[in-house]
Amino acid sequence: MKRTEYPDALRDLIAQLRQMPGVGPRSAERIALWMVQARSEQPEGIAQAITHTRATIRPCLKCGFFATDELCEICADDSRAPDLLCVVEQPTDILPLERTSAFRGRYHSLGGRIAPLDRVSPEDLRIDQLIERVATEKPNEIIFALAADVEGEATTNYLVDLLKKYPVTLTRIAHGLPAGGGLESADELTLYRALAGRTKL
Ligand SMILES: [Zn+2]
Repeated sequence: MKRTEYPDALRDLIAQLRQMPGVGPRSAERIALWMVQARSEQPEGIAQAITHTRATIRPCLKCGFFATDELCEICADDSRAPDLLCVVEQPTDILPLERTSAFRGRYHSLGGRIAPLDRVSPEDLRIDQLIERVATEKPNEIIFALAADVEGEATTNYLVDLLKKYPVTLTRIAHGLPAGGGLESADELTLYRALAGRTKL
């Protein structure tokens, strides 16, 4: 006798949900069952939200943060200090820095860091855009807020080399951030101190 399984469509939904980060087989099954059994229209709402978000959210042309227009809220905000630029690895590093309220300038997300073992080279990052911004926006200070591990350091050094010919002060946030974890995993106070205690490069 053939072993009974869920119908194909349901099995496919479980398999799709399992592709999502942080969702294991048990959770995928629970979510899928909730979706097919829910009496409300909530699952349809989620499906619509996914379609809508994917169609409307894009990276800011300038800094790489999440935006619905060409520029994100931060780049479009005229009250921001125009002379300060903070370089981060990922767009998700920006909000943790914002929450500290210690920084009122603008950001530039590289989209990663130079990592030869993962085949990420400088051309894969938003470095040309950074150089262009430095040339046109002429900031007084660029703060590097990359991870304090080997690849983060190597990327910072690479950028410092490229930027030292421009009339701009180059600084880095103080160490003491969790290595490799990115800024997301650092608490507000640690980030605040890291920003306040930045050092010249
Ligand atoms: Zn932006």
